[in-house]
Amino acid sequence: MADQDLRANALQVLDTLERPLRDLRISLTDHCNFRCVYCMPKAVFGTRYRFVGHDGLLTFDEIEQLVRLFVQLGVGKVRLTGGEPLLRPHIEDLIARLVAVPGIDDIALTTNGSLLTPAKAAALRNAGLRRITISLDSLCDTTYQAMNDVGFPVAKVLAAIDTAKAEGLPVKINMVVRRGLNDQDIMPMAEHFRNSGHVLRFIEYMDVGNMNGWQPDDVVPSREIIDRIGGRWPLKALEPSRYGEVASRYAYEDGAGEVGFISSVSQPFCRTCTRARLSPEGMLYTCLFGTVGKDLRSLLRGAAGDDAILALLQKVWGSREDRYSELRSLLRARGTGAKVEMFHIGG
Ligand code: SAM
Ligand code: SF4
Ligand code: SF4
Repeated sequence: MADQDLRANALQVLDTLERPLRDLRISLTDHCNFRCVYCMPKAVFGTRYRFVGHDGLLTFDEIEQLVRLFVQLGVGKVRLTGGEPLLRPHIEDLIARLVAVPGIDDIALTTNGSLLTPAKAAALRNAGLRRITISLDSLCDTTYQAMNDVGFPVAKVLAAIDTAKAEGLPVKINMVVRRGLNDQDIMPMAEHFRNSGHVLRFIEYMDVGNMNGWQPDDVVPSREIIDRIGGRWPLKALEPSRYGEVASRYAYEDGAGEVGFISSVSQPFCRTCTRARLSPEGMLYTCLFGTVGKDLRSLLRGAAGDDAILALLQKVWGSREDRYSELRSLLRARGTGAKVEMFHIGG
């Protein structure tokens, strides 16, 4: 049966805003070898921080079991993220297993690129990965190292991008822009990745979690970036390639390729948000800014069978009301509960 047919027969549920469930983001670990200042600032994530222990992590068996259930609710796309997902040993084995799940037609991976050796890229590709997103916030070593805060050099990320390309993996580059930190790198990054065949995506700095000290003035709105880039190399807007796509896509009019803008703060896209998120220890969140997750690991490790888990997933999605980004100002002013951290449920 074709993947679409499979999902057309699925036990699909719409949430309270009539949004279907389409994507599942799985954070494979909360560990990371970087300490990006906007995600896991060192002051908080030092030696005393308690990460999820090995036994607490969902196993590959458990992840596959959940993915098979999520497919029945309409999920066709899985993104593996973290923390740093390449820290999870044998991630390629998981990819091979998920690629084989009927109904899954797209597996993506977001990584900081630091562990993407040629051997790892080949293993990922052989396992069935067909594209990769690599994060890079600057081409200037001083700025980049200040942002990753572990002294990791730009050249090694650029080498990882080349490695992925050599393995035949299309690459997207994620650049989080924070005013006063790396906004001077917008034009050099755009110039570098024009004509490269890679799609650079500018991400508005978000107030994920509770630790990064986010202030509204730190955000460089996408409109400003589009105007800056378009002033030098004219851009034309492209149609979204699918329902629920997070990036607004633009093409360089001179044919130098495509750039994307993820405007979660200035132009929230909650109305078409089709994503659920799984934390490393099996908590299910229906929003990046979730405060309360549902513990699926206890169900997997307890007596609950697939039908009970499926019923719970349907109930959770069916009662979903999330639209944090649309309500950001209101909720921040109200000072709602502690949010889950980004490295915990992935970007
Ligand atoms: N470690 C991997 C990486 O950095 O690519 C995957 C996990 S990381 C949490 C996923 C994406 O979220 C990265 O592209 C990262 O830059 C982005 N991100 C992290 N914190 C962010 C924030 N506060 N605002 C916007 N994007 C953020
Ligand atoms: Fe690690 Fe990615 Fe967060 Fe940076 S953005 S600290 S690389 S999880
Ligand atoms: Fe989706 Fe929540 Fe982000 Fe809105 S704020 S787009 S509901 S993850």
